Amino acid sequence: MGDAKRACDLVGRDTIGHQGRDPAVLRDFGVDRAEVYEPAKRIIAYVAEVDAVRHRSSVACGRLRAARESHPINSMIPTRPRPRAAAGDELLLQESSSRALTPTDRTAVRVNPTEVSFRFYAQLNDFLRVPYRGRRFMHAVAARSSVKDAFESLGVPHPEVDLVLVNRAAEGFSYRLQHGDDVSVYPAFRTIDISEIRRTAPDVSGAIRFAVDVHLNKLASLLRLCGFDALVYHDDEDIADAAARDARVVLTRDVALLKRAAVQRGRWVRHTDPEEQLVEVLESFALVDQMNPFSRCLRCNTPIVSVAAATVVAHVPSRIRAAFREFWRCPGCDRIFWRGSHYGQLSSLIERVRRRG
Ligand SMILES: [Zn+2]
Repeated sequence: MGDAKRACDLVGRDTIGHQGRDPAVLRDFGVDRAEVYEPAKRIIAYVAEVDAVRHRSSVACGRLRAARESHPINSMIPTRPRPRAAAGDELLLQESSSRALTPTDRTAVRVNPTEVSFRFYAQLNDFLRVPYRGRRFMHAVAARSSVKDAFESLGVPHPEVDLVLVNRAAEGFSYRLQHGDDVSVYPAFRTIDISEIRRTAPDVSGAIRFAVDVHLNKLASLLRLCGFDALVYHDDEDIADAAARDARVVLTRDVALLKRAAVQRGRWVRHTDPEEQLVEVLESFALVDQMNPFSRCLRCNTPIVSVAAATVVAHVPSRIRAAFREFWRCPGCDRIFWRGSHYGQLSSLIERVRRRG
């Protein structure tokens, strides 16, 4: 049996599997067929078992790979760009950067050129110069730039970015770009849950609150009409402070304000008509189902409370008291509300918004 074992060791799996029953082969190793047959059978069975395990795991890996490859996010992930020889393209950097090149930038580009491929998706293209919209393009950056600095220099403010893929892997805003990196930048996803792979701004729990630029005063009133907390600020410093302190979502038409580091979430409001702006904001933050109309003071943002008609005698004209039974008071500014003539107009506005959302 010792010879048989040695024969098996020497012959190995393939020989036993395919030629082990050939007496001529076994004779070459100086053993008798009967002597080697049983141990060979056991070895063949063992090898077959190992193969089956390997096969099962490769099938499982294949399924996993297929599941990964068929995930809907893949349709949005570009294939790797064609490698491009050039580097140190100082002109491109100068052309695509919103700020002038500093001497340090120039030196960095000449000494250690870093050229990166960028693609921006969906509404992020609104911020790009026309030649860069809807396509992948090469962009030269100073060595070791963060990906956030790079896409903001192209015009895209970070609060509008929800996912950054570098070489197909999710990365945070502080990722340091390297020559040849392939960067894809996405806005908020509506149908695909990316919370597990997102490495950018954290999800904010609790009711959404807005810090609204004074130029969007009418939008703020409409948000309050729909029941959302929307404070108006006159100064960029104040709005940035409110965003950082109270985790407020900044709404503005000033892109530079959104690029401030203190602003984590925000939107550059595209529309100019207030009703269109309201629909835009409700859609982009998926808020249509969270509307609670007529629950907040349109003037000062405080939630209003229902009060008995007898308590408003001194505050409303007698014809109003005669015509209405329900009244609300704002604890912030003491105004009294009832369902007057403008109630119908506002109700139909809310209905229009609901239908469009
Ligand atoms: Zn009020």
